[in-house]
Amino acid sequence: MKQFSYVRVTSSASAIAAISKDKTAMFLAGGTNLVDLMKSGVTSPDRLVDITRLPMADIALTKTGIRIGALAKNTAVAEHAEVIKHFPLLSQALKAGASPQLRNMATVGGNMMQRTRCHYFYDTAMPCNKRQPGSGCGAIGGFNRMHAIFGASEQCIAVHPSDMCVALTALDAVVTVQGPKGERKIPFGDFHRLPGTTPEIDNTLQRGELIMAVDIPYQQELTKTHYLKVRDRASYAFALVSVGAALSVSSNNITDVRLAMGGVAHKPWRLKEAEAFLKGKPATEDNFREAARLTMASAKSQGANEFKLTLAPNSIVEALKLAVANGNN
Ligand code: SF4
Repeated sequence: MKQFSYVRVTSSASAIAAISKDKTAMFLAGGTNLVDLMKSGVTSPDRLVDITRLPMADIALTKTGIRIGALAKNTAVAEHAEVIKHFPLLSQALKAGASPQLRNMATVGGNMMQRTRCHYFYDTAMPCNKRQPGSGCGAIGGFNRMHAIFGASEQCIAVHPSDMCVALTALDAVVTVQGPKGERKIPFGDFHRLPGTTPEIDNTLQRGELIMAVDIPYQQELTKTHYLKVRDRASYAFALVSVGAALSVSSNNITDVRLAMGGVAHKPWRLKEAEAFLKGKPATEDNFREAARLTMASAKSQGANEFKLTLAPNSIVEALKLAVANGNN
């Protein structure tokens, strides 16, 4: 591992200042992905700015929803009584991620910043446009059964690995960031980006910006929720396909619905077309199938991930059925 300097900061202002004056410096929080990336030579910061002592781990109800500090641990969020009560989809998604040990270390901000688990990205002997722009993409035409079926580009077909982010996308969360130019808010669906011609850029954060908190608005009517994660083993595995579903159903009619998928794109994939189709319709398997069919119209396989073209729509239908069956109203 390349040698680096280390500084621990005690305020967000000093954290932002420390990052802003050093182009290769990076924030260190739980370190569950960053340290692996450093050990394997994928990421080589000259300086780590340790933000773990900043007072940003609170989880508190607000007038409009809940505010989760960027340094709140994944376990703390998943097991928080108000999260379970008001935002069960988020708790379900978090518990589907990683392992208990990792969830005890990983933070909300770090979860958002984690990088793809594409094998070629981690193998520094292989070409990868995300790790080394312009070097090519080993996954295109290679071992790509985990890769994207939506929104990929000719430069990169990687997927975002987070479960938590799928739920936050579906729940219309908003990210607060602070940077050299002050504070700004980013709708969660705009935080991560598609690869396009610059796959090395995962998100819309500007240099020096620090994630402060995530706000989720109350959606008390969305009580029927399910996070379905299909993976190669029962735990400690990334999603082949996941679906976060949250619905409001009255007299078997869908009055509101939120849907997002993981394991299928470079960012959590919101199913707006399926939501628009389902709203106001009976909660039937036929309608769930049609919503899945509409979603899959823009899907494209990369070869070895062809099975996702069947797995994804089946997962959408199953997640909707389980949400309707398991919900509270
Ligand atoms: Fe790199 Fe993206 Fe290609 Fe994977 S899919 S090798 S991350 S460019």
